Amino acid sequence: MNTFQDLGLNQDLLQAINDMGFVTPSDVQAQAIPILLDQDTDLVALAQTGTGKTAAFGFPMLQKIQMDSRTTQGLILSPTRELCLQITNELKQYGKHCKGLHVVAIYGGASITEQAKEVKKGAQIIVATPGRMKDMISRRLVNISKIEYSVLDEADEMLNMGFYEDITDILSHTPQEKSTWLFSATMPKEVATIAKKFMHQPIEITVGTKNVGSDQVSHEYYLVNARDRYLALKRLADANPDIFSVVFCRTKRDTQKVAEKLIEDGYNAGALHGDLSQNQRDLVMKAFRNKQIQMLVATDVAARGIDVDDITHVINYQLPDEIETYTHRSGRTGRAGKTGVSMVIVSKSEVRKIKSIERIIKKDFVKKDIPNGMEICEVQLMSLANKVHNTEVNHEIDKYLDSINQLFDDTSKDELIKKFFSVEFTRFFNYYQKSHDLNVSADASGNRPGDSGDNTRYFINVGKKDGYDWMKLKDFLKEILELGRDDVFKVDVKESFSFFTTESKLQEKVLAFFTDFKHNGRFVNVEVSEDKGRSTSRGKRRRDGGKRRRDDKPRGDRRSSSKNDSGNRRSRRSSEGGSKPRRSETRTSSGSSRPRRSRR
Ligand code: AMP
Repeated sequence: MNTFQDLGLNQDLLQAINDMGFVTPSDVQAQAIPILLDQDTDLVALAQTGTGKTAAFGFPMLQKIQMDSRTTQGLILSPTRELCLQITNELKQYGKHCKGLHVVAIYGGASITEQAKEVKKGAQIIVATPGRMKDMISRRLVNISKIEYSVLDEADEMLNMGFYEDITDILSHTPQEKSTWLFSATMPKEVATIAKKFMHQPIEITVGTKNVGSDQVSHEYYLVNARDRYLALKRLADANPDIFSVVFCRTKRDTQKVAEKLIEDGYNAGALHGDLSQNQRDLVMKAFRNKQIQMLVATDVAARGIDVDDITHVINYQLPDEIETYTHRSGRTGRAGKTGVSMVIVSKSEVRKIKSIERIIKKDFVKKDIPNGMEICEVQLMSLANKVHNTEVNHEIDKYLDSINQLFDDTSKDELIKKFFSVEFTRFFNYYQKSHDLNVSADASGNRPGDSGDNTRYFINVGKKDGYDWMKLKDFLKEILELGRDDVFKVDVKESFSFFTTESKLQEKVLAFFTDFKHNGRFVNVEVSEDKGRSTSRGKRRRDGGKRRRDDKPRGDRRSSSKNDSGNRRSRRSSEGGSKPRRSETRTSSGSSRPRRSRR
């Protein structure tokens, strides 16, 4: 089936499809639409963002509901407000020739009364986030007892975000005999459980590697020392002057920090994470859509449903905890028929995760080198040359031409070009001329940093009973000691104590910090252990040692000493610590940006 006509869609929808310029149904549309139009069946579709899945369930739903009725017949649940709004807008577009259609979006962070009013007008389709939907049901502001079609969109993501209970609760208010269509990029156990619980013999379709999204995306990884992660990010940005990207971090804190550093260094960057108010998030997204922000630094949760089609690069500043999430991240680029690149900055300790991701995405990564300083200068120079070449002449300049010509009377064309380009080039050249190679050679063993070198193993008197697992303890240590993500490794959490390792050069700093450190009202004791990361008997002995708290020690200001340490480390790092050599103007599509002076 090569055309939308072949799929059995009615004239109103075909007209809208024509208006939108869709020519060929995507894979998921070609598979799902005929099934959903012909049968009242449950469906499980494995398809990721960018494959055209909204239309795959949207068209059949629009064709099957009664437009002349005011009863709510279709319910679409989606993980985030952004996605909810995106689906609503798409459905309105698809149904713009369907007379009487009323689609209402229900999501948190906006007036519940307004949303209830809209529903009351007679919404045949409700698109909702689970939290707000549940709220509206409990307040009896919606009636979903006559739903005929329900869609669980990005089911894996909704479950990731902890919406299982809410979804169960919402679906319990819908009729048994409705059809349920579940769309998910991945099929973890939890999604399979939901499918089993709420669906009856669902037809399954898979949009494999052939889908629009993944085929358009190439995957690259860059191996660097963990402490060079940020420098690597800047180089990747500088090597791609027209980058329009989402940069993913693991935590809200890192997201904010990276964005702030980028802004400080003169990049057009912004942060998007859950600690921002809805209003702040809206402003950031607006600036991103307008391309006033070229690098949107985001957490996974906040970036869900970003409906921006022309993202050129996804940069995994850190890999996600759940490697399945990588699929969602890379799906932000390569949308709507465009190509995109998903880049991963990895340290040695993470490099083996690349293999696992390759298995999931069924595509190979290309290992690439972080460009060196001269390569970046060259890219910037050629980019500027192209920009100059393609610039339309502004004839307002004509009246100044004589004076300018006089100034350059004795200058040859070559000389003039050199002078002109030096204005920009010298800035980059000065910045990068002393830069060092950031690449680390691959080690097939996937060793952690310092495995072959000089490490210190520590005992710490907190464990599982204090609520830690290895990841939480690693994050805790990393945060309080102000260390890089891979500076703490081999974290081994026991019931009431744990072990961890750092490179020996950090020993003094670690011990100094913990000489007198209290957390949640109790002393946290750290001592050097002879345990090398395997035996626990040593650890048991150390646990007793841990009781030897030196409560009588003077209370020194450890934080300042740790800050000094990290300050020293930073200053030692490289000649690239400073801000980016900026182009003199920010890049916007609207042309409304302020001309920006270089910071260098
Ligand atoms: P989705 O996977 O639903 O988020 O869709 C990704 C993007 O592709 C949206 O901007 C859609 O408007 C667009 N799209 C969906 N179906 C098609 C199609 N058959 N041809 C071209 N673009 C499409």
